Amino acid sequence: ATNTIDGKAIAQEVKREIAEEVGRMRSAIGKVPGLAVVLVGSRKDSETYVRSKQRACEQVGFNSYNVSLPETVTEEEIVEAVLRFNCDPNVHGVLVQLPLPRHICEERVVGSVSIQKDVDGFHPMNVGRLAMQGRAPLFVSCTPKGCIELLLRSGVQIEGKHAVVIGRSNVVGMPAALLLQRQNATVTVVHSHTPNLPELTRNADIVIAAAGVPYMVQGSWLKPGAVVIDVGINHIEDPDSENGYRVVGDVYFAEACRVASQITPVPGGVGPMTIAMLLSNTLDSAKLAYGFFEN
Ligand code: NAD
Repeated sequence: ATNTIDGKAIAQEVKREIAEEVGRMRSAIGKVPGLAVVLVGSRKDSETYVRSKQRACEQVGFNSYNVSLPETVTEEEIVEAVLRFNCDPNVHGVLVQLPLPRHICEERVVGSVSIQKDVDGFHPMNVGRLAMQGRAPLFVSCTPKGCIELLLRSGVQIEGKHAVVIGRSNVVGMPAALLLQRQNATVTVVHSHTPNLPELTRNADIVIAAAGVPYMVQGSWLKPGAVVIDVGINHIEDPDSENGYRVVGDVYFAEACRVASQITPVPGGVGPMTIAMLLSNTLDSAKLAYGFFEN
């Protein structure tokens, strides 16, 4: 029988571990981790993400700091907000909610985040270190880190396995492929210019699907016993549902369940892990800043 990997439950477990560690940090040194979020404009989805990050901080006992800037803000003003948080000793993680308005250069803004506080792992220095052997990034971006954590906590052996990553974006596909290599998997990255996707994915022991195409990965694309991590979050029309749409992944779940040994559902798979990893990165940053290490 196929095991459904319960990302919601695993994320809860991670958050419980973090909350306990925060409790011990507070008793030992009277400090807790702090996460700062800079939001620009009023995109509904970004506002929702920022609110859930704030709520997650409260759940585990972090302080959260939020700055909302209007759509018309200048690049300089965003960078200034970032620099203030970079200097604030109560703040251990600084992130700028993406995407930014079109007149802003994302690379410059993301590059202004201190690499010691880059808990999103988007700073080119952290990405570069992730790509280099023998180097360690200070932080790895949260969604791909969450995928690996799901594999590890589900007892999946990664070393020596063949993994296929569908998608090569900066936020998911590319760092996921680099992380799998660091776990000693053999990695194939496929993308929108790959002609023979089904054939390649059929070779995979582990599939990470991050293309943003609903129902793309069919049962016939999978090797029997494969482990499938579905990163896709796609909104499709559904007149029967309350808000007129439904969220589905990149994998045809019902079909894949008949072939895969383990699979993440959407929703309730990778999604909840992303924020859990953000909290984990922020805790790590605070521990470094305070020199607080247990054992
Ligand atoms: P993106 O659009 O930046 O990148 C998509 C990648 O998939 C590209 O590299 C592209 O080459 C490839 N691709 C697109 N169509 C393809 C096709 N037909 N066949 C093969 N490859 C194809 O998207 P992204 O930001 O990487 O996100 C991917 C998916 O993951 C989206 O559904 C997104 O909503 C979701 N996502 C989820 C989380 C989360 O769970 N927290 C976080 C980020 C993204």
